Amino acid sequence: MIDTLQDHAGDLTLRADVCVIGSGAGGAVVAAELAEAGRSVVVLEQGHYWTAVDFTQREEEMLPRLFEESGMRQTVDGAFTILQGRNVGGSTVHNLCYCFRAPDPILRMWREEHGLDELTAEALEPSFARVEKNLHVVPIREDEVNRVNQVVRAGAQKLGYSGFVTKHNRKGCVQAGYCILGCSYDAKQSMLVTYVPRADRAGARIYANARVDRIEAEGGRARRVLARIVGPDGEARGHIEVKAKVVVLSAGAVASPDILLRSGLAGSSGQLGANLHLHPSVMAAGIMDDAFEPYRGIPQSYYVDEFIDLERDPHSGYVLMPISGFPVLTSSLLPGFGRDHYELMRHFDRMVGLLVLLHDESAGRVESGDVLAKPRIEYGLTEKDRRQLAEGLVHCAEVLFAGGARKVMIPTLPEATILAPGDDLSVITRRGVREGHMPIASTHPQSTCRMNGDPSRGVVNAYGECFDVPGLFVADMSVFPTSLGAPPQITTAALADRTAHHILGRWKELGG
Ligand SMILES: Cc1cc2nc3c(=O)[nH]c(=O)nc-3n(C[C@H](O)[C@H](O)[C@H](O)COP(=O)(O)OP(=O)(O)OC[C@H]3O[C@@H](n4cnc5c(N)ncnc54)[C@H](O)[C@@H]3O)c2cc1C
Ligand code: SF4
Repeated sequence: MIDTLQDHAGDLTLRADVCVIGSGAGGAVVAAELAEAGRSVVVLEQGHYWTAVDFTQREEEMLPRLFEESGMRQTVDGAFTILQGRNVGGSTVHNLCYCFRAPDPILRMWREEHGLDELTAEALEPSFARVEKNLHVVPIREDEVNRVNQVVRAGAQKLGYSGFVTKHNRKGCVQAGYCILGCSYDAKQSMLVTYVPRADRAGARIYANARVDRIEAEGGRARRVLARIVGPDGEARGHIEVKAKVVVLSAGAVASPDILLRSGLAGSSGQLGANLHLHPSVMAAGIMDDAFEPYRGIPQSYYVDEFIDLERDPHSGYVLMPISGFPVLTSSLLPGFGRDHYELMRHFDRMVGLLVLLHDESAGRVESGDVLAKPRIEYGLTEKDRRQLAEGLVHCAEVLFAGGARKVMIPTLPEATILAPGDDLSVITRRGVREGHMPIASTHPQSTCRMNGDPSRGVVNAYGECFDVPGLFVADMSVFPTSLGAPPQITTAALADRTAHHILGRWKELGG
């Protein structure tokens, strides 16, 4: 049952074996695995239940529907924009389907530096295999590599840079290119069309428009989840109380620590909300000679990994990822006003975007704000990370020129940096990357309820269970001990699968 609570008036009291908060890459997996194993499951999801028929492919309609704060969630200083989903299926509904497992050197570092001895590739293999099968992860075919990705590949190969065509989770993709606005063809194998329907078929009760305020403990165990029914205007229309034996928090790396902080739970180590990593990204755009609708086709298929060597250094590095924009997002990223802005936008259908995505050591913090859905997010770059981002932009420019770009534009403020072939690219490093001087985005906030082998250094153990509150689990991207250094959806889902199977294995103790 998926209930949007649209016509519901008044309050609801429910009982379940397990209450799952959030229905994205973490929550949907936990809900399906536990419901299929016969547990009674209630899922509370703050966003609405939008499906393929609602995905209009129009930015002005889809950004407010599908994204936290209409796509304008920012750090307190306004320097970093953080994109996160707010709908049944979470951020998987509008992600770009790159599929990677957690890199081995990262798992090794988590074992050696964070005491997570159990997190070996072998131990995680069954979870990765299940998730990849259920999400239909396959290699991207050559005929699915669009022009934007071809330009980046040609440039990288000319320069001898390492890169490859990745795997993705799409089935029957018509290459429309609207992934970020939701797939109207149900080709994207997001949680919305995979694990959420499985949970539903197995009897889970999934409530959309149900925003969790707090979790209450009794006798040291999480026992009650309190939520509000929220209307389209964000106003509360009624209250929900769920009494459950086990609570799984999967609200993402911003909301999960916010809910725990509001509940006064899991904070004894002082690590709750801390260690926020963003995988921050900056971009350059190559301007090609011809107009070619860059937004058509699979947006990301090629991946340049020349500048990240996790075997040598698991703590730093960056990757280059092609990107194309739609008009509203692109215009919001371009500097200038009036005619200057128009001059840049004129090249919209000739632009090949290339992102630098950083494996960040910089760390921020999430704290509860005055309003539930608007936590305070603080984050600042270290000097080393600023240098890496600037160096990455130099490589973006090199790659774009080598791929045939006639100009390269970097959206520095107040004026764009515009370069022609043969220009001295050191101007990029001289200007540098500084907060507030160019748009910096994040689609991968993580690590705010981090796992650790030592209760004084983390919030949850290797299975996502809170040290302070037995029976309260976190299963989302907030459990990563450090920045993952790779696209995170498959690792998030695999760790959630592992948490679900751990809960089943301990059910007598937890559910009794
Ligand atoms: C634009 C974009 C592109 C991306 N591209 C890729 C990619 O190509 N490859 C990749 O691996 N990863 C990608 N990602 C990241 C990937 O989608 C995330 O790693 C993954 O979805 C995180 O899962 P999660 O469970 O932590 O959070 P989410 O999937 O965000 O789910 C959290 C859910 O909790 C709900 N929630 C929040 N607060 C509350 C509350 N108070 N009460 C009830 N519910 C609440 C939210 O509405 C949301 O549905 C992308 C992300 C974005 C935004
Ligand atoms: S490119 Fe494929 S997955 Fe993306 S919106 Fe189009 S059909 Fe859907």
